[in-house]
Amino acid sequence: MVFVFDLDDTICETDGYSEFYIKKFFVEHNLPYKQIATDVRFAESKFDWSVDEALKWYKTYGDEMMLEFPCKKNAVRCINSLHDSGHRIVIATARATDWHTKPEEITLEWLKKVGLKYDKIYIGRIDKEKICEEENADVFIDDDIKITQRVAEYFCEKKDKHCFLMTTNYNKNLPIGENVERVLDVADMLKKLNIKAKNR
Ligand SMILES: [Mg+2]
Repeated sequence: MVFVFDLDDTICETDGYSEFYIKKFFVEHNLPYKQIATDVRFAESKFDWSVDEALKWYKTYGDEMMLEFPCKKNAVRCINSLHDSGHRIVIATARATDWHTKPEEITLEWLKKVGLKYDKIYIGRIDKEKICEEENADVFIDDDIKITQRVAEYFCEKKDKHCFLMTTNYNKNLPIGENVERVLDVADMLKKLNIKAKNR
């Protein structure tokens, strides 16, 4: 089978981990911003700062923190197990140079560091339903509700396709799209697909 995985908040813990670096930025620059929300998407929406200020923070710490992002529970073990069993693993990330300074370099370095096995990676703003079409994907997973909805609509005309939403802090109470199934982690997704993953 062909699996297409999103990266941020699907394979790695992005949003929550970024908060540490936001607070560091505030202290280092003596900034007065306060946290105004917790369960929202994107770290920059959690504080009473402007997008420009948030961008400055990301350009300062983005590369450093991206290299430190922890993997989500079970992600590397399950994906590597799929790869070892002959499934094709495709990673599709929308990381781009508007927020990131070196998205490609840093992403490839992080994947190497965590030892994730994959066959192909798309980095940049490419519609994920187009990637699924190009790759003839069977399974797609992402934490973005709108993206999963669009892929589910694309899958709808085809047989035996599966679209999953990775549960995150910000999306856990939001309604999800038709023909999208919510999962807690990659192991939960494999269980729903009836695929057994090796322990190592
Ligand atoms: Mg994501």
